[in-house]
Amino acid sequence: HDEEAAARASATEVDSGAPTIFDKIISKEIPSTIVYEDEKVLAFRDINPQAPVHVLVIPKLRDGLTELGKAEPCHEDILGHLLHASKIVAEKEGIVDGFRVVINSGASACQSVYHLHLHVLGGRQMKWPPG
Ligand code: 5GP
Repeated sequence: HDEEAAARASATEVDSGAPTIFDKIISKEIPSTIVYEDEKVLAFRDINPQAPVHVLVIPKLRDGLTELGKAEPCHEDILGHLLHASKIVAEKEGIVDGFRVVINSGASACQSVYHLHLHVLGGRQMKWPPG
C-alpha cells in the first residue's frame, strides 16, 4: 500500500487519458467499500475521507470523461445519472438533509484522478467557501 501511495503522489497530475486507479476499482482488482452500484455508476468510500461521509461516484465507462471540463453533449445522460446517484448515496448514508457534491476539474482545481468523479460529502457542518 505504501508503494501505491508513493506512485500516486509522484504521478503527474494532468489529464493524460491514461487508465487510472479507478479502472482497477471498477474491475474489483483493487478493493473498495461500495455503497451503491447500478449498471452505469459505482459509488465507493474515499480512501482519504474529508468528512464523516465521503463517497466517490464514478461512471463505470469513462468514455472521454477524464474531467468535467471535457464534457460534451453526448455525456448529458451520464452526467444527470451521476448527479441523481449522488442523491441516492446521500439518502443511503443518512445525510440527504445536508450534503455537498464536489467535482474537481483540472490541475488548478486539485483533480488528482483523471476519471470523472463526484465527491459526496457530509455528516458534519460544511464550511463555505471551500478552499
Ligand atoms: P480528486 O482530487 O481527483 O478530486 O479526487 C480523487 C480522490 O480519489 C481523492 O479524494 C482520493 O482520496 C481518492 N482516491 C485515490 N485513490 C484511491 C483509491 O485507491 N481508493 C479510494 N477509495 N479512493 C482513492
